[in-house]
Amino acid sequence: MLLQVKNIDVAYDEFQVIWNVSISIDQGEMVALLGPNGSGKSTILNSISNLIQPKNGEVLFDNKKIHLLPTYMRTKLGISHVLERRRVFPFLTVKQNLLLGAWHGEAKIQKEKTLDEVYIMFPILADRSNQLAHTMSGGEQQMLAIARGLMGIPKLLMVDEPFLGLSPKMIEKIKEIFNEIVNKGIAILFVEQNVKLALNMADRGYVLESGHLVIEGKSDSLLNSEKLKKVFLG
Ligand code: ADP
Ligand code: MG
Repeated sequence: MLLQVKNIDVAYDEFQVIWNVSISIDQGEMVALLGPNGSGKSTILNSISNLIQPKNGEVLFDNKKIHLLPTYMRTKLGISHVLERRRVFPFLTVKQNLLLGAWHGEAKIQKEKTLDEVYIMFPILADRSNQLAHTMSGGEQQMLAIARGLMGIPKLLMVDEPFLGLSPKMIEKIKEIFNEIVNKGIAILFVEQNVKLALNMADRGYVLESGHLVIEGKSDSLLNSEKLKKVFLG
């Protein structure tokens, strides 16, 4: 397994929001993390990139324990995290935003080559390379955020709510791009509230309810699950 999250408990100060959650992802897999609003999806991604430190449990990457490493070292090992609401630097150009994704060791050495690859994958970013990021549409900024994540030459790309607020056409484009990414052998863990959309794309899914993992499995079995309907419809 590329990533193994083992029995993590996460709390904001004394307020525990994740209980004993375990997740694993293989190389090149596309995995969806599902759950209603506030169920703890973003907190799990933050625990994997160490924007928050779990109070119990372990995180392994490439079979090495990484749960005590700071965020920047996890990026170096190959974990890119595309945060909720994209967070591109609005007053930097598209190209400047992209190059910031390649700040560390190997990614820095390879940045021109990776930039060429990213521009092939996202021609719109090549066309707009000198445009300020805030002047791009929401969907284009989402592409930029994903592309910036790829500039770090990750083995695992985590994307928090990639489709939020996007047009159906843009959703289709990003779905295609996700397929291209996993076909290159990069694993994707993405967070989504739209169950059908997510499970039609992903190989597997995990479902959170109030900080507990309640269902997991292959996408087709989840799509037919009564339990899943219950979590989302009450
Ligand atoms: P989701 O991404 O599934 O909507 P989150 O992981 O953002 O859920 O939140 C899970 C729980 O943790 C919620 O109850 C939320 O209010 C709480 N929470 C999230 N971030 C913080 C924070 N920085 N401080 C305190 N509580 C937080
Ligand atoms: Mg969230």
